[in-house]
Amino acid sequence: MTCISLKCSKCEYERELALGVIMQECDCPEEIFGGENPQLLEIIKNDKIANKALELIKNGGVPSRNYDREIYYCSVCNEFHNHFHFAIEKDNKTFEPDYDCSICGCRLIIVKLAHDNYKLYLQDSNQKRIDWHCPNCGNDDLECGDTLMVD
Ligand SMILES: [Zn+2]
Ligand SMILES: [Zn+2]
Repeated sequence: MTCISLKCSKCEYERELALGVIMQECDCPEEIFGGENPQLLEIIKNDKIANKALELIKNGGVPSRNYDREIYYCSVCNEFHNHFHFAIEKDNKTFEPDYDCSICGCRLIIVKLAHDNYKLYLQDSNQKRIDWHCPNCGNDDLECGDTLMVD
């Protein structure tokens, strides 16, 4: 798992975000999605989503091996959130968790960080560029601070 810090170049706005998985989660998907006490409840801290996912699995859904913590972004608040992304296949349909912004309730989108002439910006899952604005001061210059490997 990697921890990064995203910050505004002009003010003190800063968010620490975790990305990826910890070693144990990587090795043992069955402990996340199966067993007596699936870790999913603990990891995503959203009972509604976790129970829906576990119910799908109980009824034959198969969790994909690509699961990790991602950066979620609210395009209304311009705020970063950090959630666990996963997918469960059942009956040729894919269930993916929808997380809502804890501030305004709008649906969050998954974003990746991208660079353009050293300028950091955000990309949605269709590689569309999202221009970030600091929710605190309106500045559009995002910086990536410390990156830390933790496990
Ligand atoms: Zn919001
Ligand atoms: Zn700012």
